[in-house]
Amino acid sequence: MEDCLFCKIAAGEVPSNKLYEDDRLLAFYDIDPQAPVHFLVIPKQHIASAAALTEADAELLGHVFATIASLCAKLGCEGGYRVVTNVGVDGGQSVPHLHFHVLAKRSLAWPPG
Ligand code: C5P
Repeated sequence: MEDCLFCKIAAGEVPSNKLYEDDRLLAFYDIDPQAPVHFLVIPKQHIASAAALTEADAELLGHVFATIASLCAKLGCEGGYRVVTNVGVDGGQSVPHLHFHVLAKRSLAWPPG
């Protein structure tokens, strides 16, 4: 999608600190990390947020979570990790392209702010 920052990152038009990539998704380190490990996983296709997901995206979501588990295992996140997706203004979403934050290697408080 034109003028979407994460579409441009997925296309390699805007640089990112890439962690993993395949035909359906890209994982890259967040530029403003909130934990010792903080990366984002985005689908390459433009989906505005989790609110726009449908049943047809079930396989993509399975792939996202399996990839997150695999990356966290490789990064040595034995203590656990948190997966967050913000939706809309009240949810704290600043980039309108679906993304999953993965945070690890510190003790994370609950509830989040
Ligand atoms: O959930 P939210 O939309 O606020 O998250 C967007 C995230 O994208 C932020 O954590 C921000 O640091 C990150 N970001 C990035 N690289 C960019 C622009 C934003 O990692 N070029």
